Amino acid sequence: MSRVVLATRNAGKVEELRRILAPYGVELVGLDEVAPYEPGPETAPDFAGNALAKAREAVAATGLPAVADDSGLAVDALNGMPGVLSARWAGRHGDDRANLSLLLAQMADVPDDRRGGGFVCAAAYALPDGREHVVTGELRGTVVRAPRGTGGFGYDPVLLPEGSTRTTAELADAEKDAISHRGRAFRALAPLLAEALSAAGPPGTS
Ligand code: IMP
Repeated sequence: MSRVVLATRNAGKVEELRRILAPYGVELVGLDEVAPYEPGPETAPDFAGNALAKAREAVAATGLPAVADDSGLAVDALNGMPGVLSARWAGRHGDDRANLSLLLAQMADVPDDRRGGGFVCAAAYALPDGREHVVTGELRGTVVRAPRGTGGFGYDPVLLPEGSTRTTAELADAEKDAISHRGRAFRALAPLLAEALSAAGPPGTS
């Protein structure tokens, strides 16, 4: 088993990625299971840049291969915003309720046929020998006018996935995992990471 650190303190993310990576012989550990370090601010202009920065930082701090992700909601009528600012759209990091209210207010006059958007997740790995890779997963849908459902977190009550009659907050966890941006990105990254871990790195790194 190769040990890989996931650069997050979110236990739900660790569990989800652990399930996806287990068949590939990868043992995933969260930040709570390695020597502590202080993550830097997320300053990249896009999800991929932030995911790579978090993975590189975890490799540098732990010496272990690392995986990291960055995600958010990208709304067409807002030119892709809230985007990388999703968690702090209303000003304070992680205030889901305020973020959601502000987004709905901004979109009040946007007609039904222009309310497209989607959750986006970039998932990256970085290895101690410098090899790295990033992939992106998306869940496209429509932003509804009023929140629906009590599951999930963040903007889940307002995203109606394409072909669904329920928002992501009205889906069971397993239903959301099967179609989510994060599930898609992690499932795409898993075989690439497993292959990179089993392949020899550049000369002088083993
Ligand atoms: P992070 O990638 O965990 O930092 O998430 C950034 C922000 O994007 C979260 O705080 C949420 O506002 C939003 N977000 C990311 N993924 C989801 C999701 O699956 N549902 C709802 N909101 C999400």
